[in-house]
Formats: sequence, C-alpha cells, structure tokens
Amino acid sequence: MAQLSAFGYPVELLSGDETAARLPRLRERPGAALYTAIEGAVEPVATAARLIEASGAGVMQAHVHGLIVEGMRVTGVMTDKGPVAAGETVLAAGNATPALLQTIGVTLKMQSSDGLLVLSRPVERFLDAVVAGPDFHVRQRLDGCLLVGGTFGAYAPRPGMTSLYQNAAAQLARIASVFDCPAALEMDSFTLGRRPIPAGGMPCVGRSLHPDGGIFDGLYTVVMHSGFSNGAGVAQAALEDILSGTRTSEIAPFGMVAS
Ligand SMILES: Cc1cc2nc3c(=O)[nH]c(=O)nc-3n(C[C@H](O)[C@H](O)[C@H](O)COP(=O)(O)OP(=O)(O)OC[C@H]3O[C@@H](n4cnc5c(N)ncnc54)[C@H](O)[C@@H]3O)c2cc1C
Repeated sequence: MAQLSAFGYPVELLSGDETAARLPRLRERPGAALYTAIEGAVEPVATAARLIEASGAGVMQAHVHGLIVEGMRVTGVMTDKGPVAAGETVLAAGNATPALLQTIGVTLKMQSSDGLLVLSRPVERFLDAVVAGPDFHVRQRLDGCLLVGGTFGAYAPRPGMTSLYQNAAAQLARIASVFDCPAALEMDSFTLGRRPIPAGGMPCVGRSLHPDGGIFDGLYTVVMHSGFSNGAGVAQAALEDILSGTRTSEIAPFGMVAS
C-alpha cells in the first residue's frame, strides 16, 4: 500500500467488515483488502472497434511478412497483399513483435507467459467490482457472464489435472466457493492466452537501435503486458514521442533495449 501511495495511486485499506459491506455476496472474508476507486473494466474488443470507427482511420487486414528498410529508415511493411509504404510504421504485434523486428536484424527478448481465462454462462448480476484474491481474479460483464482468471503468474496445471478443461473448470469452481453466486456457475468457454511480456517484465516503447549503431527512423515499437489498460495512455505518449521526440514520464523509463 505504501508503494502504491508513493506513486500517487489512490488506494484505501479496507477491513474485513468493510470489504464484506462492499461485496455482500463474498463468502471468503479476508482480514483486509485494498480498494482502488479509479479501477474498473471495459470490454477490449468492443472498445477498440468503437475507437477505430471514431478515428475515421482506414483499416486494411493483411499478414505482415517483414519490415522494409532502406539504410537507417524503415519505409513500410511487406504483406501478403504486397508492400505497404509508410512514413512511420508502428509495430504493435504483441508476441509476434520479435519475429518482425528480426527481419531488420533487431533482437527483442521476451519472457511471455501463459494465462488461462474462463468465461461462465450469464448469471444474475451480483458483482460490480473487479475482485482479485491470491489465486483468482474475476469480473462480471454487462451480459452477466463472469470472466475468471487465476494467479497473475504463468499458468501451470493443478496437481493431478491433465487437461486444460479440468483446470478451467477448477478455476471457475473457485469463484463459486469465494462468492455466494445467484446460480450454479456453468462454463461457456476458456482460452489459454500468451501475455506479451518483454524480458525484464517491463514495456518496450520507442525507437530501435540499428545493429551497426544509431537508430532506425520511421519505426516505432510498442510491446507490453497490460497493454489494454495502458493502451490509451501509452498511445498518447507514443504519439508525442513520434511527432516531437519528447518522451513523457509515462514512457521515459521503457525504451527499447540494445540488441
Ligand atoms: C490471460 C491474459 C489476461 C490478460 N489480462 C489483461 C488485463 O486484464 N488488462 C490488460 O491491460 N491486459 C491484459 N492482458 C494483456 C493484453 O492482452 C496485452 O497486453 C495486449 O493485448 C497487448 O496489445 P497489443 O495490441 O500490443 O498486442 P496484441 O493484442 O497481441 O495484438 C497484436 C496484433 O497483431 C497481430 N499480428 C501479429 N503478427 C502479425 C503479422 N505478422 N501480420 C499482421 N498482424 C499480426 C495479431 O493478430 C494481433 O491482432 C492479458 C493477457 C492474457 C494472455
């Protein structure tokens, strides 16, 4: 808590009773909990679609095979639909970023990890907050479905469990023990995703170093975990960096590492 407060992050320590008052259906009452009033959730896919629509940007879907480079400048990308020229190429390809950087000789090391997410069938709404415990995190979507994660570390099968399905079912069942849910929880689906985490655990945002010295012009790379929560702020900071070369405090510590 002291660490978060030192960052200027608004955080409040709740007693077990205060936590129970905020989460009336909580069965497992903790001794204490942290409450952050500014945190919440939005649906990533729908939000991204709305933002793209509102921006008026043209959208082209293609598979990118590699970056096109002329001397110290990246001038576009080679796709399965042919070359696409660009004054500035923003590389935000998640876990595929290292392979695309490698096409111009730049190495980016990653320490990506797997994460299991389970979606329940809809139940009556009972949860307004995003709740995280030591071995679970959960939120309820507007359609009533619960989205359930495990720990924030790398996914590992539970002892004695041999299939992803078993693990997903156990992850969902954990929520039924933590909360007095309005109905029995049934699984809708589950996904094992890979979090795009650069080596060292921190984001990489910025220009890449040319293997022979100097930097590549015309190329800006952004890769990180929690990229959705941070997306809007990072995009704004990256834009300022691209347009004026000013690295604001949000991204200043997170440049590309030397290859
Ligand atoms: C289980 C799990 C839970 C997570 N929870 C959260 C969370 O609660 N909050 C949060 O903020 N983040 C969360 N994340 C992380 C978040 O998903 C990522 O940080 C975020 O998606 C990164 O966004 P991005 O646009 O940089 O990359 P991505 O979302 O990976 O998008 C990259 C895109 O590039 C495309 N692409 C890749 N290669 C090519 C190619 N060669 N040609 C064309 N297109 C290509 C891919 O198809 C994809 O559409 C979670 C991740 C996982 C796995």
